[in-house]
Amino acid sequence: MSSSIKIGRISGIPIAVHPSWLIAFFFIAWTISDLFQNSFDSWSASQYWTGAIIGSLALFASVLVHELAHSIVAQRLGLPVQGITLFIFGGVSQIQGRYKRARDEFLVAFAGPLSSLIIGAVGLFVWFTLRPDGGEDPSLLLGIIFYLGAMNIILGVFNLLPGFPLDGGRVLRSAVWGWSGSESRATRVAAGVGNIVAWILMAIGIFQFLNGNIIGGIWLAFIGLFLQSAARGERRAESVRNATQVPLRAAVQRTPQMVDATDRVSDVMIDVISRGFQQVVPVIERDAPIGFFTAEDANRFPPTEWHNLSVGGVIARQEPFTVQLSDDAFDVLQAMQARGLRYALVLAMDNVVGVVGQAELEALIRYRSADGDASVGQPPYRP
Ligand SMILES: [Zn+2]
Repeated sequence: MSSSIKIGRISGIPIAVHPSWLIAFFFIAWTISDLFQNSFDSWSASQYWTGAIIGSLALFASVLVHELAHSIVAQRLGLPVQGITLFIFGGVSQIQGRYKRARDEFLVAFAGPLSSLIIGAVGLFVWFTLRPDGGEDPSLLLGIIFYLGAMNIILGVFNLLPGFPLDGGRVLRSAVWGWSGSESRATRVAAGVGNIVAWILMAIGIFQFLNGNIIGGIWLAFIGLFLQSAARGERRAESVRNATQVPLRAAVQRTPQMVDATDRVSDVMIDVISRGFQQVVPVIERDAPIGFFTAEDANRFPPTEWHNLSVGGVIARQEPFTVQLSDDAFDVLQAMQARGLRYALVLAMDNVVGVVGQAELEALIRYRSADGDASVGQPPYRP
């Protein structure tokens, strides 16, 4: 979500808030104040509103804990986490790469709802232990703890609905995957069930709307609609992934000639680039790669200057991103797009064996997906 605002980092994971979150914040604060007014008559107006604002913020803190649970388990399992974004329907963890095993996907998916259920159980335990007896109203703090406890239980249970891409859908997907051994069948099953769950939520939402619960009904119907389009996107992404499960080697420029940072730009342009075998040249300084040289770097200067310039002086110095020759082309493309990189260095057993460009990868994947699945028009991996 590009218009999101970064608010910090936890465990190295960037946390961002999407502007749509504000709508949810006010809606939830309003719902809480309504709930408190109906439940606790002796509270003052300022108590309702203080409770509502703190309650709404604390609810989003719980959502953040839920997402952190997903992300930290993913990190432990070696999957890169690009960030967490809070938005109108809650939060999303942007976890990259693919799960190696069904068990890993299960652990990542289940960690979120588990954290919500634990917070919920603790909150309700505190409430039932400390609540005043004899029909008296609780303190402001205890009222908020009750609300948080109840909401976290709802959050945990709702997310365990088997609707892909809800956590329950991912749990279902990992179960079908583990049981059948087929990842693409697992996605089809989970996306199919997700579609049904989405329709049921929309139907309940419309029913509630017609019965007078206008805002709650619309809210639920929109969540259903959101889940339905997400399930469709997930199915489409899976068919692209299947069609594109090609090893990286198909797009790699093998055994590239490398040059030293002290080499003259004019020499490299004549000896390497203009021969047409290679458009990008890895640059080495004291045995370590320091970046890539292309004709664009040279063309920022008049050709008459090229013999006075060293390659190391004209390139953008940035330690090259490295990938393995055995990697999946789709994963590499995603990683490069996420980092905004045009080239990556390809290694095999720690040796540089090639260079790969984002444009070449994209072309390869578009070609393969057109070949493998004619229904893929606009692949969803494009940013
Ligand atoms: Zn979750």
